Amino acid sequence: MTTPDGVDAKNLFQTGGLTYDDFILLPGHIDFDVDEVSLETQFSRNIKLKLPVVSSPMDTVTESGMAIKMALLGGLGIIHSNCTIEDQVREVRRVKRFENGFITEPIVMGPDATVKDVQIFKEEHGFAGIPITEDGTLATPLIGIVTNRDFDFEKDFNKPVTEVMTPKEALVTAKVGVTLVQANEILKKSKKGKLPIVDDQFRLAFLMSRTDLRTNEDFPHASKSKDKQLLVGATVSTHAEDRERLVELVGAGLDVVVLDSAQGDSSFQVKMLEHIKSEFPNLEVVAGNVVTARQCETLIKAGADALRIGMGPGSICITQETMAVGRSQASAVYFTSNFARDHGIPVIADGGIRSIGHIAKALALGANSVMLGMLLAGTSEAPGEYFYEGGVRLKRYRGMASLEAMEQKGGGKRYYRANQRIKVAQGVSGAVVDKGSITSYLLYLMQGLRQSLQDLGTRSVKAVHTQLQNGELRFEARSPAAQAEGNVHSLHSYQEPKFSMR
Ligand code: NAD
Ligand code: IMP
Repeated sequence: MTTPDGVDAKNLFQTGGLTYDDFILLPGHIDFDVDEVSLETQFSRNIKLKLPVVSSPMDTVTESGMAIKMALLGGLGIIHSNCTIEDQVREVRRVKRFENGFITEPIVMGPDATVKDVQIFKEEHGFAGIPITEDGTLATPLIGIVTNRDFDFEKDFNKPVTEVMTPKEALVTAKVGVTLVQANEILKKSKKGKLPIVDDQFRLAFLMSRTDLRTNEDFPHASKSKDKQLLVGATVSTHAEDRERLVELVGAGLDVVVLDSAQGDSSFQVKMLEHIKSEFPNLEVVAGNVVTARQCETLIKAGADALRIGMGPGSICITQETMAVGRSQASAVYFTSNFARDHGIPVIADGGIRSIGHIAKALALGANSVMLGMLLAGTSEAPGEYFYEGGVRLKRYRGMASLEAMEQKGGGKRYYRANQRIKVAQGVSGAVVDKGSITSYLLYLMQGLRQSLQDLGTRSVKAVHTQLQNGELRFEARSPAAQAEGNVHSLHSYQEPKFSMR
């Protein structure tokens, strides 16, 4: 038996605070195909995910659009709370109501709408297949649908839509409960542009569109609750007024609540945790953020189902500089996961992840999943509009403790005490480049992660944790020169690597 190369994790972390870039993982032996690598993980005490990724509860990262895609792909989205209770509840409800391929909140009009109204709508939205209901809301029965073909040659723009629409008797409809495959078949056979899906009282529950037929993909790894709805998380603060927020969120079907705080080891958080555990014993609670074993102990004792790890490593974060409190992220992940594992509590490595390699390193140090902010900001599913700066297409990305976010109308207030006049920012506002849709971007990150685990000679997240514990996983510290060597160097120019999907 040869002497093992490198050092084990215990020895590596004796040297002081380390970040992901300060070490490298030494390769293992490969005797399996990359597709055999399983990324399945335990997200919290009772929730398993097919992918170890969670989108950060930030107002430039996760609202319903992001949370739906994350859950469809096998991860999880946490809806931010820098907004009114109503807004946050609406976002959670959108995820819980989401049916793949079905339009869950179709725009409808009432019988008094005219051909002109429909034409204006078409100019603004680029399509015109509008269900007409008795009172112009989804609360009353469907009476017909008006489509392009119904008013193409109409000269009288003031005519009510009821005179040109296809009436309900002539519609092909399906009943609530129909599966995506069945609905696709009905739509194909009907040769119609839209398939309304109605309840027993003929009220419109969903709409299906022929133009979406080709893109109605199947998502076999979607993260779902027992009732087959997508899983979703949301944050609350530890402030007393957020108890009311939580009641509303639970009413909307929330699966996981994340207690959002930079320093989670507080009596406020312990009280909130105990309150949630006694009022909603089936709700999974992620507590945090913490970076030491001692902090973990407090929150595990109070009933946490998972811990969020990270104080200061975020790309938009100035906490460590401003407060001089926090921890280098690799050390934080290693020491907290080491402690939490003994109590059966999974940890989420939150912040500072800039690459596939950093995701692999976080998992190799014991994290069960990673929480991504910057990496997912700038995708088309992240909230906000694209804009151009110097010819580059960008989206805004900001810290939740940036002055801009704290001053947000309807939110913000909770991030500082009501009587606190001076706000000390712990984050900045900036922008990130357009990354396209998360569907292909996340697949790229996850395929890279599988290859990384394969290079380590490990077939799963669970297996890499076993190797970490038994010392089989070997590490080496990287000098600044080693880090420079491991990056692109000595070239006159080069292009940023991109992924290709075939
Ligand atoms: P916070 O609301 O938890 O804390 C703000 C202030 O209020 C702190 O002084 C805290 O002690 C106090 N406080 C908290 N709960 C209280 C209660 N129930 N009663 C009275 N006072 C209470 O918010 P934060 O920690 O400033 O974080 C703001 C946002 O910024 C969050 O989204 C957080 O995730 C993010 N952030 C994250 C990090 C990180 O490194 N992970 C760092 C800074 C900020
Ligand atoms: P990123 O992935 O490196 O961009 O880090 C995202 C993480 O930074 C979030 O999940 C939060 O834990 C943390 N964070 C969010 N807003 C702030 C802030 O304003 N200051 C410090 N950290 C923040």
